[in-house]
Amino acid sequence: MKQIDHIGIAVRNMEESNALFHKLLGIPHFKVETVASEKVATSFFQIGQSKIELLEASDPESPIAKFIEKRGEGIHHIAFEVDDIRAEVERLEKEGFTPLNKEPKRGADNKWVVFLHPKTTNGVLVELCQSIDPAM
Ligand code: ZN
Repeated sequence: MKQIDHIGIAVRNMEESNALFHKLLGIPHFKVETVASEKVATSFFQIGQSKIELLEASDPESPIAKFIEKRGEGIHHIAFEVDDIRAEVERLEKEGFTPLNKEPKRGADNKWVVFLHPKTTNGVLVELCQSIDPAM
């Protein structure tokens, strides 16, 4: 793994949280993006090499809505950037980790993503992400 790409934070109200994180970080978010397949709206702040991804449910059935219902707002996942997501998933499976999706799926920010089950990672939802080659 190369670095922490971003930390995902579940929020109830994107507009309020964008304003809050703008105040906290001293910079505005640089983009918003909806991921229809995950039923989430996202917004990104750049902090050095890493990002903060705010996640708001765009549907009551969204995993983010369920997360907030159970645990309240807060850190939802940590995303690590990898060069070869398929090779990394294979390596991690051999090490005993359980991917939630074996086939990388398109996430926000032009990335292939795979999540690991938090039961195998000390309760932390881990996202692996690999930038999608624009030529592909
Ligand atoms: Zn993420």
